[in-house]
Amino acid sequence: MTSNTNTLERERGILIVLSGPSGVGKGTVCAALRKMSPDIVYSVSATTRSPRQGEVEGVNYFFKSREQFQQLIEADEMLEWAEYVGNFYGTPRRFVEETLRAGHDVILEIEVQGALKVKQSFAEGVFIFLLPPSLDELQNRIVTRGTETDEIIRSRMSVAVDEIKLMEHYDYAIVNDRVETACAKIQAILTAEHCRRERVFPKITQWIDGVN
Ligand code: 5GP
Repeated sequence: MTSNTNTLERERGILIVLSGPSGVGKGTVCAALRKMSPDIVYSVSATTRSPRQGEVEGVNYFFKSREQFQQLIEADEMLEWAEYVGNFYGTPRRFVEETLRAGHDVILEIEVQGALKVKQSFAEGVFIFLLPPSLDELQNRIVTRGTETDEIIRSRMSVAVDEIKLMEHYDYAIVNDRVETACAKIQAILTAEHCRRERVFPKITQWIDGVN
């Protein structure tokens, strides 16, 4: 028996996709989770929107022109991309693939169209849908974000309800009532996913083959 077969090597990392309707608090939950679980690697997205005050290139986003973004798509460098409120957002492919291969878990915090595209190429990912505690609460969050007119609020609510209908494609649903509780649930999901028989079994097969 060689040492390769009697220790469990570091397995491939898990891709976690955290998504949900606009206004549900994905960004807040993801930021809190990164503090609580610094070993989860955050994938920095590319976007064509302008930086907001305090946002740093390569930390919050990779800020691109529309032409640059188009080139990344054509070069197949995007794992997924989507157009959201007039801007493009996308996940650089290479970083995600290399980090998973190195055995680290990677989290994507993305809107629903992009999440569904990831599912087509990364079905083994863990897809988590964040829900508001109620539709009234979602409306409050949308309203307190800015000075939108009633018409804009109605149209955002209707988009949010369409987005919620897509939750059937996800593995888990978490109600974002308290950020700490939502993060603890994501950590629990990850712990359980690492113990899935099919993730552990290939290594045990190596043990068995090494003995027989
Ligand atoms: P914001 O402009 O507020 O930073 O982000 C707007 C929306 O884009 C959020 O719902 C956020 O989750 C989503 N988003 C951020 N990065 C990506 C990405 O790489 N791909 C997709 N599909 N959506 C993203």
